[in-house]
Amino acid sequence: MAQDYKTVWANCLEIIKDNLGKDNEKIFKIWFEPIVPVQLEDSVLTIQVPSLFFYEWLEEHFIDLLKRTIRLQLGPNGMLKYSIVMDQSISGNPIVTNIPSTGKQHTQNSPKDIPININSENASEYPNPFVIPGIKKVRINSQLSDKKTFENFVEGDCNRLARAAGYAVAENPGTTAFNPLLLHSSVGLGKTHLANAIGLKTKELHPDKTVLYVSSEQFAQQYAEAGKNKTINDFIHFYEMIDVLIVDDIQFWENKFTGTQDAFFHIFNYLHQHNCQIIITSDKAPSEMRDLNPRLLSRMKWGLAADLQIPDVETRIKILQQKLSNDGIEMPYDVIEYIAYNINTNVRELEGALVSLIAQSSLNKKQITLDLAKQMIDKFVKNTSREITIEYIQKVVCDYFNLPIESIQSRTRKREIVQARQLTMYFAKKMTKSSLAIIGWQCGNKDHATVLHACKTIANLSETDKQFHYWVEDLEKKFKE
Ligand code: ADP
Ligand code: MG
Repeated sequence: MAQDYKTVWANCLEIIKDNLGKDNEKIFKIWFEPIVPVQLEDSVLTIQVPSLFFYEWLEEHFIDLLKRTIRLQLGPNGMLKYSIVMDQSISGNPIVTNIPSTGKQHTQNSPKDIPININSENASEYPNPFVIPGIKKVRINSQLSDKKTFENFVEGDCNRLARAAGYAVAENPGTTAFNPLLLHSSVGLGKTHLANAIGLKTKELHPDKTVLYVSSEQFAQQYAEAGKNKTINDFIHFYEMIDVLIVDDIQFWENKFTGTQDAFFHIFNYLHQHNCQIIITSDKAPSEMRDLNPRLLSRMKWGLAADLQIPDVETRIKILQQKLSNDGIEMPYDVIEYIAYNINTNVRELEGALVSLIAQSSLNKKQITLDLAKQMIDKFVKNTSREITIEYIQKVVCDYFNLPIESIQSRTRKREIVQARQLTMYFAKKMTKSSLAIIGWQCGNKDHATVLHACKTIANLSETDKQFHYWVEDLEKKFKE
């Protein structure tokens, strides 16, 4: 019996909703409601999603659920195809999004065992993500996480000034003396969290303001794409329409990305002149960012530079308690204290230690006791003293195979280099927080689908091929050295 695509998708939605459960209604709303079914042909259901990012997210987080659901509806040969079409604005023009566009054709199919691929014919439907001639106000996704709020940002001596300045900026964006607001500290001390919280609070207090969070990497990538597509003016124009612009981790631009820095300088001046708020984070103090464009650096001094310090032990205890109470988990006070006293590097590691301990206890069905905490923390402290970057991963992999590091960036298809590149992508996905698009970009300007494919290939090979299994394990050890 021929089924029609709308009914099939409606049935799928029922199953998905049911599987996600009542607690995840928001997830359902965000990730499934915007999907539009477009066709059903030979057990292949095509669904339209609004962006590349959206597709990437679905594939990463919901692939199993989608696979099961489609097979339930269409039988064992059921397949899903994506058509990626950006939203339309009221004027009928493609709406602006700040998703880094790879701008490339996605001809790459996912591995065979996963019945999902991108509909390559639709590559031409990617609009330029920056153009919206004639539109003054933009509705964009601010790219903020709703988890990183002021409410759950624990205050202590270590962050009081930065927090208060951030709050003042959210109350009166663009009109305090704190413009730009530069938040700086070493890694894992809450810059991203606080910048995100400022963005959320601004939106709450000023719903008419356009707020955008962007990492400096994404910004540089978008700039590079715009250069390639000859749309730099559109790119700049897009950013000039933002009321509150948050750029995270600008130390990433040091020493390179001169064009990006110039473009940002231009945008910065425009926004500043128009009383729009700029919030910047960096893991260095302005005085240490010697390799940033001096014109840009001088602009940083116009506003306020506020630093975040390592929290003292009382604040560390409060942070742990807050995290536990958010997750509804109880833990003896002496264990909390033990963690707080022993992990004094940064908040990210503090949280990491807590999560590992909880995981250990539930996996091994052991009670969380001081002894268990002691065993685990000792191991933890040894293992996690370094922040791993994509560049570091490239270096370790290339050293391991005795290849020059530039080979990862090259276009060659030599087997050993392709393998090294794929391994780099696999570990970058596993060990950093970078998106697939960013990883691809840093590994020879590949697109996100290539990265996804690489990750799956390596995962498969390390299960089926002894040599690969050994390499993956051995490299994993190297990263921990
Ligand atoms: P950074 O950007 O400085 O590297 P993040 O903002 O990513 O650091 O913070 C690392 C982790 O620590 C995040 O999960 C963040 O939510 C948490 N964190 C940092 N500072 C605080 C704080 N004061 N209260 C609660 N959580 C915090
Ligand atoms: Mg950060």
